[in-house]
Formats: sequence, C-alpha cells, structure tokens
Amino acid sequence: MKVIFSLSVLLMVSCFLSGQSTSNRCGNDYYTESGYYSTETILETVVPDVALRDDELITIPVVVHIVWYDPSENIPNAQIESQIDALNADFRMLNADINIVPNEFASLASDINIEFCLATVDPNGNRTSGITRTKTPIDGIGDKFTGSGDDQKRRIHYTALDGRDAWDTKSYLNIWVGKSSFLGFGCQPGLCKEEEDGIVISPTAFGTTCLANAPYNLGRTTTHEVGHYLNLCHPWGCESNGGNCVKSDQVSDTPMQSIIYLNCPPYPLSSCESNDLTVNFMQYVDDACMAMFTQEQKVRMRSVFAENGPREGILSSTGCALITPVNKTLNDDAIVISPNPAKGCIHIDLNFDNSAEVAVRLFNTLGQEVYAINTNPQDFRSIDISSLSGGIYFFLFEQGSQFTTKKIIVDP
Ligand SMILES: [Zn+2]
Repeated sequence: MKVIFSLSVLLMVSCFLSGQSTSNRCGNDYYTESGYYSTETILETVVPDVALRDDELITIPVVVHIVWYDPSENIPNAQIESQIDALNADFRMLNADINIVPNEFASLASDINIEFCLATVDPNGNRTSGITRTKTPIDGIGDKFTGSGDDQKRRIHYTALDGRDAWDTKSYLNIWVGKSSFLGFGCQPGLCKEEEDGIVISPTAFGTTCLANAPYNLGRTTTHEVGHYLNLCHPWGCESNGGNCVKSDQVSDTPMQSIIYLNCPPYPLSSCESNDLTVNFMQYVDDACMAMFTQEQKVRMRSVFAENGPREGILSSTGCALITPVNKTLNDDAIVISPNPAKGCIHIDLNFDNSAEVAVRLFNTLGQEVYAINTNPQDFRSIDISSLSGGIYFFLFEQGSQFTTKKIIVDP
C-alpha cells in the first residue's frame, strides 16, 4: 500500500505543472513572457462573433521550409506528407483516436472543416512541390536571433540570416522545420512580424514517420501550433502562466483550467471546480492523449478568415490552384459519383451531351495523382479504389479546355 502511494505521488508530480510552464512542448508562453510576442495584439485581433458558414470548406495552402544543419534534419518528403495527412485528419475530425474523448466532452468535438494542401503553385505562379530545402551553418537555428528590441529577428525566417524567407504570408501557411529547444511555436494573428508569420516545428516532432520521435510522433505538435496560427490560446489562458482560474482562453466551451497537464493524464481530473478537457489539441499532453478541438474553438479559428480578418487572404490564395481550380466550366451536374464516401469501388456517370474524350484524374490532398484515364464519357463506369488509404481525394475532369473537380472521401 505504501509503495503504491509513493508511486502515485511521483506520478502526480511528473504529470502536472501548476503555474509557470517548464515544458518544452510549445514556445508561445515563453516568447510572450519574454516580450518577443505581444499579448495585447492577440486580444485586439479577435473577431469573436464573425464566423464563416460552417459548411464552407476552407483549404489552406502550405509551404514547408526545411532548414537543416545536420543532414538527418533534412527530412524526406514522406515525413512531410505524413504531417499534411495528420493535419487533415485532425481538422476534419477524421482522426482514428477521436474515441479517447470522454463522454462528458464528446458533444463538443468538432469538425473544423479546414483542410491543408502542400502548395502546387509558388508566389511567382510556377509549379512547386510546396517544399523548400535550405542547408544552414547554424545548429539549433530555431532559437537563434539577431538584433535587439523591435529590430530583433529570429534567424530561421530569413534567407540572409542563414534561414529561409517566408512565402507571402497572406496567401500561404509557412511551416519552418528546424531544430529548436521547443517542439514548436506558432504565430497568433498579428503577434509577429509579417516576415515571421507562420509556425516553427522541430524535425523530431514533425509528421508521423522517419525522424518523428515518440511521444510526439502523431503530428500533433503541428496541429497545436496551427491552432495558435488560427488564433487559439492554451486552455489555461491567453496571457500565459496557468494557475489562477481567472485567465481565460476566450473560448466559452473549454473548461476553465489552472493546471498545465503533461504526459498522459487520466480522466477525470479537475481544476477551477470543473473537469478539465485534457484531450484538447491545445494542451501540452503527449500526442496520443489529445484528440479534439471544440465547437467554440472552431468559431474562433474560422473567424480569422472573415472579411478584414487576419487570415482572409488564404481564401483567395491560388497556392493550391491545381487542386482547387478557380475557373470551373465543365458541367458539374452531368457528373454523378456514388457512393460518396466510398470504399472498394466507386461508380461514376458522365452524362455529357457529347462524346468527346474526357480525362479523368484523381489526386490526394498532397496533389499526387493516384489514378488517370482518358475515356469516352459513355464508356466510363467505375474505378477500383480498394488500394487507396482512407481520406480525402479530388477528381479532376477535363474535356477540351473545360474542367471541373469533385471531392470524394475514401473510407479506411
Ligand atoms: Zn502552444
């Protein structure tokens, strides 16, 4: 009995932090406390009551800047692609571990209706992989600065300082992957210099394969930091330093919380007289122990895309133009796809009033072509999708100079 008691005391000490964070999970509180980020700006940029319609899918073009010192940090495309997949699962509530959410909070879990694509078009209008690679002579560049006061700059964001310049931060989410003493940190709208707007992730906490290292190997560091990029705060408050049951995250359906949870806390645990939502993506817990955003976090995130909102420019970005073309002219109504979601085989009717050849191509969310055929519309009936992994895909139908796209979901 005595041994068990001692172990549980040890567990309590290692699992929770009250007050100031000593975790390296996320650097936002540190940069806020040190004055590099301004909390005043966070409060000013909130547009709490203006949300885009929930059914309007938002696609965020992503550019990933790999800034490496040791060759191992020059992570492969597969690791980058695994991160995009993880973001798409988490922000569409398609993550397989959604079932870890306790019943008490299940009704709060939310499909944010935001997706991510690796950019297919760069700021100059050229085709791109959405990935840049830069060798840097600076070890741990994610923590390195030049200048002081208002002129202070974090080097990873600047080509001239041995990092890599951002792509237009109005049109792309810039993700820098480089070594730092934090697993990640992310810019809340208006809180950083425009040139530094985006998120930074350590290569060992990025994606779900290769260098991604347990317990941070499910891509949730990036999910958390994108939460910041879309104006979410930590559950213990926007002003950092949990601990007083007064500071709020400005989200009405996340319970007030004074404890900063680490590792993998059991359920239920409470502070501020209510059970805490320890499985929220904005906590510091291990990747396997977080699984959801809430309904009101969705409203707050989507509000940044509203007219004159800080992320409005993403909506008109052509960064993923080959996946979401803007000039659709082919008759959408003539194309009937069923079932959708699908598994095994998917049936397609091309009810065109002409028999000109149609190019049918299927892409995953990374812009990779997974199927292609040129066919007479009357001859085309169905395709075998049993080899595809579960997730979101886009059909591109082209006839002459006309084209249109259709989204499908493949069940796992
Ligand atoms: Zn954070």
